[in-house]
Formats: sequence, structure tokens, C-alpha cells
Amino acid sequence: MNFWQDRKELFEIPKSEIQKFVIGESFHKVPIYCYKVDHGERKILFVSAIHGNEIGTVKLAYFLLDYLSHDEKKYEKLTCFLVPCLNVDGFERARGLQGYFRGAIGRLNAKNVDLNRNFPTPNFRSRSYILSRKSSAGTFKYKREISPDSPEAKSLSPSQRKGIKNCGEFGGSELETRALMNLVEKEKISIIFSFHNSGRDVIGGRDELSKELVKIYANKTEYEILDDAEWRKIGQTGTAKDWCDDQNISFMEVEGSTRYGSDWEIQKPALETVLEYLAETA
Ligand SMILES: [Zn+2]
Repeated sequence: MNFWQDRKELFEIPKSEIQKFVIGESFHKVPIYCYKVDHGERKILFVSAIHGNEIGTVKLAYFLLDYLSHDEKKYEKLTCFLVPCLNVDGFERARGLQGYFRGAIGRLNAKNVDLNRNFPTPNFRSRSYILSRKSSAGTFKYKREISPDSPEAKSLSPSQRKGIKNCGEFGGSELETRALMNLVEKEKISIIFSFHNSGRDVIGGRDELSKELVKIYANKTEYEILDDAEWRKIGQTGTAKDWCDDQNISFMEVEGSTRYGSDWEIQKPALETVLEYLAETA
């Protein structure tokens, strides 16, 4: 099946009122595009496929762009930026796989770096050990990540740790991460939505607005809320969430329910409600 078969017409975007521009390029010199729907002061960014194998998030971004371009009442006071695919190299690898619904091929960029561990944050580290499910202490659907230098790491057998995650040479070492950071800084974006799958949950930034957005989103989608303390236990470092928390940017990470599907029907009511809320409170 052609990846775009279900929403082929979306390639007719952009409409005249939508600006499209390049924010940077990948390791393989593929341009990374951003779309801008400009109706006001409050600037919001939606970014998909930081993990290139999370194909459904790219579809979701195009559905959202299509929706915003047809929105008759418009969201006054909001300017929406959309980056439908940040990890373009990983995405190309993943979408070429016939019948691909799981697995990690294409998750990383072309240098095998996990872009959602590559942000320059105080907790950034170049390498993490990924623990086995059993060693991840049971309560999480996510595998725990720990520093290879920690005392806990020294006592682990190879089967207890499943592998090494490459987070990059330094925070912001990757072209794709920097392209996103530059966009946020240049445009003074104050709210970021980061789309992933397939954990069926939402994770917010530390600030009050983020918490409010997470509540709305979880209520509309019936995705689970992972609160900050629970999320911290997973041990992820150098994430977009950490970076936003440090920069006082409101943030929400949305984990859709399937790898390949957009979840548009589930997420559309949530997106409409948060956009209305943000427009009303701008
Ligand atoms: Zn992800």
C-alpha cells in the first residue's frame, strides 16, 4: 500500500494563506519543512516524527495542517507552526518497509542518534543503557534508561541491559535537533506539541498551562496522563520536554495509539479544544 494512499490530496497543501519554508536539512541533506498558519501573537509549534519510525505522527500533522487551512472561524490570536517530519532520514527508512508496524528501524537519525535525547539540557548524556522490561521495575510501559557510569549500571548483566542508546556527542549535536531549536528561538515559540506513538498517553511540561493542556487532551482522547514524577522515573535525558522546561516553554508530548495510523479521529476533538482554549486565553 502506498503510504499516502489514504490522504493523497494533502500534498496539494499549501493553500495560499499557508507559508512553507525550510528550517534546515538532515545528515543526508534532505530539507526539513515547516508550515506556518499565521493568525496572531501566540505562537505554537507542532512537531512530528522526532522518531522517524512513528509514521502515524506524520499523517496526523498533515491532517492537522489540512484542518487549519480550512478552518472557517480561524483561531484568532494564534500562529501555528507545523513540522510534519523532523527526522526525515529515519522516516525514509521506516516508510520503505512493507507491512511495517512495529520495531525501531528508522527511529534514529542517519547517525544513529535518538533526537529526543539530543537536546542541550543539564541532564544530557551521550550514552544510556536501556534496561530490560524486568529491570525496568514493572510499573512502566517504557523501558528505563540509566547512565552507564551509575552504580546500578555496574551490577547489570548483559541480559538485564538491552543495549546502548546513542544520544549524540553533545546536546544539540544533530542537525535536525538544531533546526528545531533555531526555529523555536527565532520565532519565539511559547508552546510546543510533540507527537509520538504508540504509548497512548500524554506528558506535560512543568508549568501550569502545560498541565491544563494535558488535562484537556487526556479527557478528549482518553489517553493516560503520565505525570512529571512518574515520567522522571523512566530516566530519559536530553528530551524536548526537558529542554522546554528549562526554557520556560509550555510543552506537551502526545503518544498516539498506533505506529502507522494517524489517530486523527481520536485527536481531532482534543486538538480543537486545546486550540480554542489557547485562543481564548491568549
Ligand atoms: Zn517517539
